[in-house]
Amino acid sequence: VERPSVRASLGLIVRSLIAGLVGGGGELPVPPLLDFFGVPIVNTTMDEAVDWIAGRVALAPGSSPMRKGEKALLAFVNPDCLNIAYTHARYRAVLQQAARVLPDGIGVKIGCRMRGLGLAANVNGTDLFPRLCERAARDGFSLFLLGARPGIADLVAENMRARHPGLKIAGTQHGYFGPDEEDAIIARINASGAAVLLVAFGVPRQELWLADHHAALTPPVRMGVGGLFDFYSGRIPRAPLWLREIGLEWVWRLIQEPGRMWRRYLLGNPLFLYRVWKQAR
Ligand code: UDP
Repeated sequence: VERPSVRASLGLIVRSLIAGLVGGGGELPVPPLLDFFGVPIVNTTMDEAVDWIAGRVALAPGSSPMRKGEKALLAFVNPDCLNIAYTHARYRAVLQQAARVLPDGIGVKIGCRMRGLGLAANVNGTDLFPRLCERAARDGFSLFLLGARPGIADLVAENMRARHPGLKIAGTQHGYFGPDEEDAIIARINASGAAVLLVAFGVPRQELWLADHHAALTPPVRMGVGGLFDFYSGRIPRAPLWLREIGLEWVWRLIQEPGRMWRRYLLGNPLFLYRVWKQAR
């Protein structure tokens, strides 16, 4: 077997980085499902992703208990999440059992490039959220916002109701509660009749929490959304559009919270690319 030289491999990584950043890639095959370290990622568009959520909600009118084996988790993964899944067996298993995992950010696109594949779209939770709100207002289904610091989810609810007249936010709850409060919170979520439960505790805590309480919860769609509420409450400003468009939102986040983010991006991004390269061999 011919082993690629280090130089050729580095060349591939650099070419993929540049190609990922400047776009293009229309000629590459776009498989419906991608696999990163055993995590199956649906390769789809933002419109289809919103349709999929609305479709799941329409199939489950009212709050009814999950049927056995029924899946409800929608997860978004960026290179940091995939790095965690690489070593965290339980989180990886939860993603493998999810109803759907969607690709978040430029890193997954660059990872695809390295393997000669095209990414249909960057379907991250932050960009999906306003579209979901718009669809929920139109179709008449409601959302429950769970997580972030006290007061943050209420601000998000206020902002989104103002932007999307008719939007129903069935309830909110901050993410700093004790285990003794858990049952009451789950009861409140279920009683709210929310069709979509958004959980913002950070990765992997939010996905593990949703897996732990899978059977007790009734909303037909549950999603882990990370720092989303902080953005839409205005607590942390999101990167300007031009920076997002060239795939550098992560640089903005690094500047905003360097103490917390340097490890994730400056160590995590190269580690992710190295692991993709290893998997591709
Ligand atoms: N959080 C929470 N409860 C906790 C720990 C964190 O609700 O016990 C919230 C935190 O306030 C923040 C979100 O979880 O709103 C995590 O944001 P982060 O930016 O870390 O998410 P990610 O980068 O994983 O998308």
